Amino acid sequence: HVPVLTIDGPSGSGKGTISRLVAQRLGWHYLDSGAIYRAVGVAAGWGDIDLADPAALVRCTFDTKIDFIEDDESRELRIIVNGLDATDELRTETSGAAASAIAAIPEVRAALKDRQRAFRRAPGLVADGRDMGTVIFPDAAHKVFLTASAEERAERRYKQLKDKGVSVTLHGLLREILARDARDAQRVVAPLRPAEDAVRIDTTGLSITEVVERVLALMPA
Ligand code: C5P
Repeated sequence: HVPVLTIDGPSGSGKGTISRLVAQRLGWHYLDSGAIYRAVGVAAGWGDIDLADPAALVRCTFDTKIDFIEDDESRELRIIVNGLDATDELRTETSGAAASAIAAIPEVRAALKDRQRAFRRAPGLVADGRDMGTVIFPDAAHKVFLTASAEERAERRYKQLKDKGVSVTLHGLLREILARDARDAQRVVAPLRPAEDAVRIDTTGLSITEVVERVLALMPA
């Protein structure tokens, strides 16, 4: 059985960065499940689909082709949506908000289950998201739930986006993050919550290296 490490948590908790680094250290595959929801959000935007039309969004989910391609040189992951490189567009808060709206539709979540589980390949998988430990890989041997204060999460996103040249305000980001957290926590299907057997790590004030080491310390040598 291929081992899985799930890393769940709210936006800006550091999941993405930590999961990527842990996967590298372990030599395991990496699943960015948020990117899948974002990709559907971007495709819906391209197709002018109303975010308030669940049936159209479910159709869009089935129709959207998503490919993850690792750049041989930089090892950076490019995300190709319906044949177009959408990596940069995927990171915007607009895509995050669209993803969050789409992710609240039960049929969308169901339609994406197998696509996510297909990432489980030897020698192992680090799966990053909201429901990796609760719904997609409930049998995972290792589960982590990362948290951080909303202020710190907004600040991390702010730095990330500013480095990418995206113009945003810290205040606006904090508001968007709180709204997205509330929606993710309140939805009926797969609300954001730690799996019962997840180890919780509060990353407020911790460096990336410190969190990576704490996660790795949970794994058998
Ligand atoms: O992690 P990321 O910020 O990229 O996720 C974007 C949105 O996709 C989240 O706000 C959440 O609504 C949704 N999502 C989800 N389940 C996952 C991953 C992401 O519902 N496993």
